[in-house]
Amino acid sequence: MFHKIKYVVIPKKSKIEYRACNQFDMTSSTLFTKILQGEIPCDEVYSDEFCLAFRDINPQAPTHILIIPRKPIESLCKVEQEDKALLGHLLLVTQKVANQEGLTQWRTVINTGAEAGQTIFHLHLHVIGGRHQSWPPG
Ligand code: AMP
Repeated sequence: MFHKIKYVVIPKKSKIEYRACNQFDMTSSTLFTKILQGEIPCDEVYSDEFCLAFRDINPQAPTHILIIPRKPIESLCKVEQEDKALLGHLLLVTQKVANQEGLTQWRTVINTGAEAGQTIFHLHLHVIGGRHQSWPPG
């Protein structure tokens, strides 16, 4: 017996949404590209063919790790359907590095756009843990 799959049609983005995404277009290589290329050193904690994880230079908690895809994606605003598996992989790596750090509780943050606090326009996931964290964020 097969279950019928219901398809949900996702509406196209409006022009306003596209403008919001494009306002932080960055075509030049970022600091994280330089870290990936080995031009700038990092305190690496995990690496595989799809991503690199290293300690944040300005940690906001006892554990503060950044996970970046090797594919240069500006932000969540620019991900596409073809990035689906990569995005899932990055989330699984959050668990891997958290476990490596001995964490069972942590916060995962993806700042998207300058207004949300993004300062480096290469997609990255913050893994923050080792202390109590309040909500909502500032
Ligand atoms: P965001 O504000 O979400 O774009 O996060 C960028 C993060 O990169 C900040 O938490 C910075 O402290 C961190 N960062 C900046 N430069 C370096 C570096 N050279 N190595 C490691 N982390 C860095």
